Amino acid sequence: VADVFSEAADIVIVGSGPTGSTYARLLSELLPDARILMVEAGPIVADPPGLHVANIRDLGLRDAARIASQGPNRFAYDPVTPEEHALRLAGGPDTAMLRRPGLFLVGGGAIDGEGFAAAHAAANVGGMGSHWFGACPRPAESERIPFIDRAIMDGALAKAERLLRVSGDQFPNSPVAPRLEAVLGDLFNAGRSPERRVQPMPMALTRTADGVMRTGTDMILGDLLSKPSGRFELRPETVCRRIVMDGERAAGVELWSVATGAMSRVAAGVVVAAADSLHSPQLLFASGIRPDALGHYLNEHPQLSLYAELDGVEDHGERLQRGEVGVLADTAVAARTTSGVTWIPYDGDRFPFHVQITQIEPSSLPEGDRVIASRKPVVAVSFFLPSEPRYENHVAFSDSETDWCGRPKMNLRFRLSERDRERLALARETLQRICDALGRPLPGHKPRMPPDGSSLHYQGTIRMGERDDGGSVADRDSRVWGTANLYVAGNGVIPTETAGNPTLTSVALASLGARHIAAGWASR
Ligand SMILES: Cc1cc2nc3c(=O)[nH]c(=O)nc-3n(C[C@H](O)[C@H](O)[C@H](O)COP(=O)(O)OP(=O)(O)OC[C@H]3O[C@@H](n4cnc5c(N)ncnc54)[C@H](O)[C@@H]3O)c2cc1C
Repeated sequence: VADVFSEAADIVIVGSGPTGSTYARLLSELLPDARILMVEAGPIVADPPGLHVANIRDLGLRDAARIASQGPNRFAYDPVTPEEHALRLAGGPDTAMLRRPGLFLVGGGAIDGEGFAAAHAAANVGGMGSHWFGACPRPAESERIPFIDRAIMDGALAKAERLLRVSGDQFPNSPVAPRLEAVLGDLFNAGRSPERRVQPMPMALTRTADGVMRTGTDMILGDLLSKPSGRFELRPETVCRRIVMDGERAAGVELWSVATGAMSRVAAGVVVAAADSLHSPQLLFASGIRPDALGHYLNEHPQLSLYAELDGVEDHGERLQRGEVGVLADTAVAARTTSGVTWIPYDGDRFPFHVQITQIEPSSLPEGDRVIASRKPVVAVSFFLPSEPRYENHVAFSDSETDWCGRPKMNLRFRLSERDRERLALARETLQRICDALGRPLPGHKPRMPPDGSSLHYQGTIRMGERDDGGSVADRDSRVWGTANLYVAGNGVIPTETAGNPTLTSVALASLGARHIAAGWASR
């Protein structure tokens, strides 16, 4: 196999999102002499590479960066129409969720069908990590991976929090948090351990003099790009079409240049597939690595949300007039962001949801609602629900048709289980209870449930397992079963049913994978 390669790297990382970047950063520290090549299908869309696009203050440049991240769809999506907006607020089918700036659709089928219609991906240096919101809750109870030692996982989560710059204390003067925490604490804190009580959401961002900086992969990579050592290379617009296997070893990768269409082959000592939860299994499939579980157990976080008026915040009107209501959910107002996110943590069967409450920028509301928002804060109460990891929910790949990068075409299938629907019914009741306690739902608004795939948290497709029994793709160190040197990364590795946002866990698992690669390096 060796003579077909035109160059060589010690480690090839496919995908430059938060998990690929974590491997790059940690392996460059653990193995300073190793040559690391990170290939990325999408282009560099910001300076420095990997910068979160919301940190681009010029709105025109920010829009351009989003469009450049949209893979095959390099054009501005149509804005949400008034009809779509009205239907959304009334709880109807939310077609606007099929056009999300910065992303492109990989799902398909009817919006209310079984095709995972709203599944999206990003193709840019930084991946979805240049577009994400940054909520980083720690997993708890059944969200945790039972076969990873608790202390080891806690250490990895702490490392992930450092890499992603997560903290929960960036908004000490939030105009709404004290009221939200008091009301929701009364409702839900009894019987919870201190770390699972209602609290500010840990967020991956840093406060600056003029607002907030969201964490992108530039921050994870540190000075890998700014102080070149000659050992690390980021190669954008380069698609890994196939991992070349030599028995149980990954011998290298086959690369396709988006710009020139040229193919090349790079020999590799280790390959890490960090190409997101749908494109990593696609890459394994294209490489002839097709364990039973590959692409299966697909699960996400069905969402349910409603806007509510918040009573009991006396100085809201004055703050609004002073221009002090800048909300985290609105990237256009980063410079005056004052309110963070309030979190009701998932707490096992006692509270099987993850809830985020964010203040809504009054100007983003329809005319009628703006009058209410001028008197009282309006908040979005958003539920993330678990969905059961089930074999039948899956992404399948074609042997004959290809996508925009010449990779096997995807076909997704997803349906909620009975248990998922029971939890959804309970979530509807709890959502109403929360809105009534905070104030009331905005008049005319109904709970909204975006189409399947909208969460952008796709899990299970390359899941890890305790043993090689056909129910998983990789071991606890993220190494693909039956291979010596092929690793997978991303939310797809998470094997458990979760309610909370997954990136912190995926970055933690990537840190364990990097440690495992480094430990085995000497014996190579
Ligand atoms: C709007 C938005 C809000 C979000 N909010 C949150 C949140 O609050 N909390 C949270 O935890 N998560 C959130 N997420 C999800 C979060 O961004 C992802 O969990 C995270 O980015 C996953 O990291 P990753 O490295 O596994 O994959 P990605 O970030 O998806 O990166 C994968 C990269 O691999 C590249 N790639 C794919 N195939 C190939 C190939 N064959 N060859 C070369 N490159 C390839 C892709 O182009 C992509 O750039 C959000 C996402 C979005 C878009």
